[in-house]
Amino acid sequence: MAEPFFFLTCGRLIAPAWLMCPGARGSVDLPLTVGVVPRGDGRHVLVDCGFAGPEMTQPFRHLGPWGAMYRFREHRTIAEQLAARGIAPASVSHIVATHLHLDHIGGFVDFPHAELLATQAEIHSVMSRGQFAGYHHGKALAKSGRLVPLALESGERHGFPAHHDLLGDGRVVVLEAHGHTAGSVAVLLTDGRRSILHAGDAAYDPVEYREGRQSVLSKVTAFRKEWLQATWGRLRDYEAAGGDVLLAHDPRGFARVAGAT
Ligand SMILES: [Zn+2]
Repeated sequence: MAEPFFFLTCGRLIAPAWLMCPGARGSVDLPLTVGVVPRGDGRHVLVDCGFAGPEMTQPFRHLGPWGAMYRFREHRTIAEQLAARGIAPASVSHIVATHLHLDHIGGFVDFPHAELLATQAEIHSVMSRGQFAGYHHGKALAKSGRLVPLALESGERHGFPAHHDLLGDGRVVVLEAHGHTAGSVAVLLTDGRRSILHAGDAAYDPVEYREGRQSVLSKVTAFRKEWLQATWGRLRDYEAAGGDVLLAHDPRGFARVAGAT
């Protein structure tokens, strides 16, 4: 059986609940969920990689206007957490970006040998759309030479219209899930013990895709609502067929999946 994958969060972001979930009140501590897949040969694949350390200690200084929104209850980079488990950051060969928004990929600087994989539409966005669309690291990514386009093959898989099997063995399958951004994807992880679909920011709370109720933040951030609604339908169908959907910033989802490591 394949070595099990697991999930980490680089911190807990304090946010008003109404922003993320229609009808919710109070405040929530949001995870920034990262998937960690041991390849079995000492190397690792990540799904997203969270923020870099300075972005969490001084968000306004390092992230510009969006940084003013970020208040952390706690933070620790994914690289530090992996090192504490005996996993060298240099062992990360690929980071699959659900999308290239700053909270999902800032930590790529901590993984010197990793290729950062994103769809061509997403790469175009990070290079052209800028901070007010939630992108921040375009120049650094271009300079690194480590941002690599990920081509999805058309053809339905798991109910999604295009896919790419990253390792060729079904353990990391990238699925088209655009709408939140121009080229956002979901990533299905399977290790023989469980299968979990990391759907990034396709929704912030499951209520959005289950009931078709868009959160305030989603209204602000969504690239194209029709695409997002189509992705929601696919997530609903996937879940209805018994699949497990995990959203990057859902605290209950994180608690559900992160215990079993
Ligand atoms: Zn996000």
